[in-house]
Amino acid sequence: MAYEGSCHCGAVSFRVESDIPDTAMSCNCPHCRRKGFLLTFVPIDQFRLTSGSEKLTWYKFNKHDIDHQFCNVCGRQSFSVGTGPSGEKIAAVNLCCVPDADLDGLTIQKVDGASF
Ligand SMILES: [Zn+2]
Repeated sequence: MAYEGSCHCGAVSFRVESDIPDTAMSCNCPHCRRKGFLLTFVPIDQFRLTSGSEKLTWYKFNKHDIDHQFCNVCGRQSFSVGTGPSGEKIAAVNLCCVPDADLDGLTIQKVDGASF
């Protein structure tokens, strides 16, 4: 089953060809904690931007290997695109931007990104 998500204003929306996961990653690095992400990772071919490509602004930092893309209307970052450990392209989906995700039911995997 696929699921859909969007930024707050709805300009940027996407569809993921996968079930909504029951786990999510929460990272304490300076970037993730400020944005309050609950992330899941999918192969890029399961991720499709359905609207708002013209509204996306990109933010890169550190090694510049992740494109943090946020809506330039409402400022919400609903996903980013990067490279996984084996060199494969992945999308990091912010489950906070997926209305059908039961955030309270997620098993949270804590990542100590602040120590990387
Ligand atoms: Zn927006």
